[in-house]
Parts: sequence; C-alpha cells; structure tokens
Amino acid sequence: MSKFLLFTLALSALSAQERPIVLKTSTLYDGKGKTLHNQIVVIEGSKIARIGGAAPANAVVYDLAALTVTPGWIDTHSHIIWHFDNNGRFAGRDEPQEQAVLHIAENLVATLNAGFTTIQSPGSIQDKDVRDMIAHGNLVGPRILSSFQPITNPQWDPAKMKATVDERKQQGADFIKLFASKSIREGGAITLSQEQIDAVCGEAKAQGLRTIVHAHSAESAKASTLAGCTSIEHGAFVTDDVFDLMAQRGTYYDPNIGLVLQNYLENKPKYFGIGNYNEEGFAYMEKGLSITLDTFKKALKHKDLKIIYGTDATAGAHGQNYREFIVRVKDGGMDPMQALISATSLSAQSLNLEKEIGSIEPGMQADIVGFDGDPLKDVYAAGRAVFVMKGGKVYENLARGSKTGWRPAGKESAR
Ligand SMILES: [Zn+2]
Repeated sequence: MSKFLLFTLALSALSAQERPIVLKTSTLYDGKGKTLHNQIVVIEGSKIARIGGAAPANAVVYDLAALTVTPGWIDTHSHIIWHFDNNGRFAGRDEPQEQAVLHIAENLVATLNAGFTTIQSPGSIQDKDVRDMIAHGNLVGPRILSSFQPITNPQWDPAKMKATVDERKQQGADFIKLFASKSIREGGAITLSQEQIDAVCGEAKAQGLRTIVHAHSAESAKASTLAGCTSIEHGAFVTDDVFDLMAQRGTYYDPNIGLVLQNYLENKPKYFGIGNYNEEGFAYMEKGLSITLDTFKKALKHKDLKIIYGTDATAGAHGQNYREFIVRVKDGGMDPMQALISATSLSAQSLNLEKEIGSIEPGMQADIVGFDGDPLKDVYAAGRAVFVMKGGKVYENLARGSKTGWRPAGKESAR
C-alpha cells in the first residue's frame, strides 16, 4: 500500500471519528422539567456540545422530529443478571455458565433498547465484569453501577458489617446494598438493630459510598433514615411520619410499584418452588400490588420527598423497565412530567451522577432516547423507545411505529 493511501485512510478514519452528530428534534424534554421545541442537539464525542444554533456542515444528522426526545432513562434498582434458563425456570447454580452469560447479554440489550442507558444493580459479584466490559465499550448494555454482594446477614455484629463495607470498597463496588427488613414474601419486618444499620451506612459514608437499603416496614425505613443511608428501596409499609422524616433528611425513596410484583405473578410457574417463591409468598405478592400502590399514593402527598425511579427488575422483567412509569402515572396518579424527572435527573442525582447523566444539556453525556409518541401524553409510548443513544453512540434506530410496547392484558385496568 502506498504511503499516500495509508495517509488518506488515517485521515478519513480521523475525520469520521471527529464528525459531530446532529439530532433534529421537534419536542424535547430536558429531564429537569423544561420542554424545548424545534431544536437541534449537537453531539461531539460522547457528550452534548450544544443545543440550538446552526448545524455544523460536516455533521452526521439523525432526524428525530417525528419522535419525542428525552434523556436516557435510569433504573436505580435492576437485577440485571437474573434470568430464566433454557428450561424456562428462574436460573440457579446448575445452569451452564455459557448459557448464563448469553442470557445476561439478552437482558443488557433488552434494557438498553428500552431506553434505559444507566442502571444500578444491587447486586452480585458477577456484575463486576459485566459493568467493566460495558464501560470499556466491548459489550452492549446500559452503564452499570453495582454493589456486588449485598449485606444480608442479621447475625453479623457491627464490626463485621463495617469490615464487609471496607471489603466491597476494595473490590470496587460503586455503592453498598443493605437488607434491613425481610422480603415482602415474608412480611417485611425489620431484621437489624439501629447499631447495625448505623455501622453500615456510617462506614459507607466514611468510605465515600452510598448505601441503598431494602426496607419494607416503617420501622426499618425509619432506622435507615436516621442512620443517614442514601435511599429506601420498596418501603411497602412506610407511614406518613417516616415519609416526613425522609423528606426532611433528604433520604431518597425508591418505590417499585409497577413491574416487580406484576412480573413475578405473570411468571409464577417459572419461579414457583424455589426458596420463598411458594404459595404463601405469592399470596403476599398478590396483596402487595394494592399495598405498594396505596403507599405510593401516600408518598406523593409529601411534596419534598425525593421519589426516584427503580423497578427491582428480576428475571422476565428486563426490557420492560418502563412499566414502572406507566403504573406510577396511570394508576398512582403521578404527574407525568414529575415521573419523567424521577426517571432521569432525579435518579441521576441519587447516584451522585447529576453532572454526567440524566438531562439534555451541554457538557452531559449524550444519553438520548426518542419515543414513538409522547410518554407524557400517552403513557404507553414509554414502551416505544425507537432511538437509543448512549455516550454519543447510537444503539437503536428503528423506523417509526416498529415497536408495540407493553399494554395490560385483558381489561384496561388489569395490572
Ligand atoms: Zn431488589
């Protein structure tokens, strides 16, 4: 090959890499409550360079004017590696590793294609390699934050708990996941003392880590709030006085009312017979649907409470993370703009990533989703993400109307 050809190849590779991207939009929600009309978004490298002005002459242009554009959505609670095995059962230890890996890859693609460009997994040690490979650009999936193995053992004394926090920090975990109550399948009562919770959330803070706490009962949510933990997950039985305390202290609330229980009930045979997935457990989950919805409605009345967007997605739920939005708005009565802010900028803030993700502004990562329809006017449009960009790279770009998205089976009110 001639020197000249090599030179021009190098040059074209360089200029291709450096060409900015322009997204033409007609309706754009910035993730912080603003609506922009007929603007272009200019992307350079992985970031948003500017909004508006003239398109650079050499730009690669995507016309999203027929779509509704939002920041990439964030799921603060997704068990991304949980899946059904080739036999259609909730996968366990006897599954061949090579099959497990492919099912995890399926979950990653499904989640990203649904418009979720960042998720937080609480957590499994398997998350580590998945997280790092995605970050290196070698694997397709949402940006991942993980706690690795959660702290679950109520028998541990505070010193052992602190040591485990330090161990997670050393392993490279992004945050700590703590269980302070039983599962909803077992009634959700508190399992730890105040001293134990103080030890975990205090040590995590000292190490620069956030702590998210599985807490169903009011008592467990209160103890976690007093301990300065970052967020309360689930909180099915949280009471008004505890919501007030959480609002005062700035503790985030991550209710999961729209996907996790529905998905378990829809896939009962795939879980049934494993651990506490028994008749009693399913009966609790069935009851949980209205309990969690009522608690969510109660939470909405606390105007200063920071309600973030987590689904607790497990096997069978990945790629349907948007159903949380549908239920929050349609059944919970949440203002759709507030629900979108929750799924974008507010969740980013809860991850301490508000300067990177969660809004469409200059300097932010170019995580941008286009929906067929407007989720703020038609909730089901949230299930029709047809354009997905993460960090300036386009992962999905479908023709308009080529997705149907989820709708409740049977009658309109079925959940
Ligand atoms: Zn969970």
